[in-house]
Amino acid sequence: MIVEYKGDYNWDNIDVLAYKENGTNFKSITRQVLFDGLDDIPCQLRYFEVQEGGYSSLERHVHVHLVLILRGCGQVMLGDTIHDVKEKDIITIPSKTWHRFRANAKSPLGFLCLVNVDRDKVQLPTAEQLSELKQNPSITEFLDV
Ligand code: MN
Repeated sequence: MIVEYKGDYNWDNIDVLAYKENGTNFKSITRQVLFDGLDDIPCQLRYFEVQEGGYSSLERHVHVHLVLILRGCGQVMLGDTIHDVKEKDIITIPSKTWHRFRANAKSPLGFLCLVNVDRDKVQLPTAEQLSELKQNPSITEFLDV
């Protein structure tokens, strides 16, 4: 099966979806499901795109992510560290690690994200966990947008 690339980070017959059904701790981000598991690859491959100034939710979960930056550049928070990321960088997000992507480099940030089809629900930080994370000034600067 071939899904034809239509240009501008769109693929034939693949809908550009809202990032999440609900929630408020994200901004200017879309989701496309490029692959939804087949036979012995029980994985979903998604393409997320964050517009300039936007960000994904601050979250953690037991399942892991494999991410490949496909478009532009920005930053990712991984645990207690902020990293600059650019096209073709590969990021592994380990289990139970707080993470957020931000398009804060005057560019959109698009990335492929591989996850298991069978995965646990996302956890968002409680007020207490958030204030704990913000003990780190570089995390505060990254989160307070
Ligand atoms: Mn996640």
